[in-house]
Amino acid sequence: MRQRKPLVVANWKMNGNSDLVQQMSDALSVLKQPLPEILICPPVILLTDFPKHQNYKLGAQNVSEQHSGAFTGEISADMLLAAGASHVIIGHSERRALYGELDTVISQKVKVAIDAGLTPVVCVGETLQQREEEKTLEVLARQLDAVYAAQPYLLARSVVSYEPVWAIGTGRTATPQQAQQVHHFIRQHLAQYDAQAADVLRIIYGGSVTATNCEALFAEADIDGALIGGASLKVAEFSAICTMA
Ligand code: PGA
Repeated sequence: MRQRKPLVVANWKMNGNSDLVQQMSDALSVLKQPLPEILICPPVILLTDFPKHQNYKLGAQNVSEQHSGAFTGEISADMLLAAGASHVIIGHSERRALYGELDTVISQKVKVAIDAGLTPVVCVGETLQQREEEKTLEVLARQLDAVYAAQPYLLARSVVSYEPVWAIGTGRTATPQQAQQVHHFIRQHLAQYDAQAADVLRIIYGGSVTATNCEALFAEADIDGALIGGASLKVAEFSAICTMA
């Protein structure tokens, strides 16, 4: 019996529309228990289109580190909650690389999300260059410490997603062994902040996960689910992945 309930996250990124909402909701609603925890993160404008159903939860892909005020284009944690989100992805590598999100702002976002009652899915991962320079563990430690060193109490209310940047959207996934090695490191590293929380922490894997490669990943001891981009837009494939977790 697995100690941690698996979590499968769909990150639609800037894709999807109300038709896909309907198709995905219909498909997930007929899946039979036992299921993993399933989390759909569509563009925020689609959150309120999702019918409520016990088989899935909803999340956002980003949140403001501010509470309210003159921050054009931003959306607050309270607004996400009001729109039906229970979770939010924070620190995705696309936010880090394309929108200049630094460790400091990511750390603030995690705190603001948790204080508001959202569960953050905190993304960490190394670039190809960093992996080739054998800096993977150093980079991950820095990204994790930025969030948890000063605020270790946040760990018990987080999900961590390991997403090697070189595996996102490239069709090139980490091998189950490579991913397991890193997940194990992440759990050990975080144990210094709260050993009990690190033990029950869900650490999910992201980067070119498909219905074909997910089972081998899910079989690893420290891989507690997946964060899925491309394949989460295909209703049949995403449903299949959920039934395999
Ligand atoms: P991908 O995206 O599944 O398309 O590689 C993963 C991600 O966003 O982390």
